Amino acid sequence: MQVIRVPLRSKFRGVTFREALIFKGSERYAEFSPFLDYEDQEASTWLKAAFEFANMPLAKPAREKIEINATLPAVSESDISKVLEPFGSFSTVKIKVAEKGQDLEDDISRILTTNRLYPQSKIRLDANGGFSVDQATALLQKLEHLPIEYFEQPVATIEDLVELRFLMKSRGLSVKIAADELIRKASDPTLVAESGAVDIAVLKVQPLGGIKNSLEIANRMDLEPVVSSALETSLGISQGLFLASQLPNLNYACGLGTVSLLESDIAKNPLIPVNGFLNVQEIELDQEAVSELAVDGERRDFWHRRLDRCLELL
Ligand SMILES: [Mg+2]
Repeated sequence: MQVIRVPLRSKFRGVTFREALIFKGSERYAEFSPFLDYEDQEASTWLKAAFEFANMPLAKPAREKIEINATLPAVSESDISKVLEPFGSFSTVKIKVAEKGQDLEDDISRILTTNRLYPQSKIRLDANGGFSVDQATALLQKLEHLPIEYFEQPVATIEDLVELRFLMKSRGLSVKIAADELIRKASDPTLVAESGAVDIAVLKVQPLGGIKNSLEIANRMDLEPVVSSALETSLGISQGLFLASQLPNLNYACGLGTVSLLESDIAKNPLIPVNGFLNVQEIELDQEAVSELAVDGERRDFWHRRLDRCLELL
C-alpha cells in the first residue's frame, strides 16, 4: 500500500494535484482516489470500487478498443493548443465551462477558439452544474452554429434540468443533455433518468462503486451511456476502460484520456490514447514511478485514517 501525489499540468476544477492510495488485492493493483474534500460516506463508495477491481476476476470485454475524447479544462484561450496537444488526434473534445471566477464571455471565447483550432472535432460542454437555467440557455443560443454533441450537467438540480429542457424547446434549441453529478452523487441515480430531462448518463466507475454497480445502474436507466474518468492515474482509468468494454451499447467517445492532464503516471504502459482510441487493457505498475511519487508523514497518515473510516462504513 502506497500513497502517491501526482501534479496536474493545469488547474482542473480548482484542483492542482491528485492524491491516491494504491494497493494490491488478490487479482491486481487498484486505486482509491476520492477527491480530498469528499466526506467519508461518498468516499467509501470509491473504496468499494477499488476493492472490486483489486479482487475480482475481469469479465471478457465485449469490445477491445474504446474511442476517447479530449478534455479541456477551463484554461485561457492562449493555452488551448498546449493542453490539447498531449491528447493526439481526437474527434470529440469536452470543454469545461462555468468555472468559478470566470464569466460567460470566457467560456464563449474558449469554445470558439477550440472550434477554430479543431474544426473537425465535435464539442461537448460540461458545466458541473454551475449554470443557472438562463445562463445555460444563453450559452447555447450563442453556440447554435457549432457542432455541440451534448451539454453535460448544465445546471445542478433535476428541477432546473426540467425547466432548461422546456426553455430550450421553446427557443428551438435541440442539444442533447447529459447527467453526471446527478447520477454519481444522488442517493437514487435513476431519478434523473425518470425525469425525462436528460438523454445521456455519464458513468464514472469509482464514484458509482465499481464495474458491476455501474453496469446495474446503466441497465436500470433508459439513457445512452458514456464512461468518463474521475481524473485517475492509468490504474484507475483501466477500471473505467473495462466498464466501457462491458456496456451493451456504447455510442459515444469516452472521457478516459485524462492521464494526458497529469504531469506523471504510474504505469509502464500509460493509458494515453493513440489516434483517438485506447485498447482495453490492464496496466503494469511502474514501481519506480510509484516510489518517486510516494508521499509520507502527514499525507500518508491522512489517507490511512481515511481508509480506516471508509472501511468502517462498508
Ligand atoms: Mg462532468
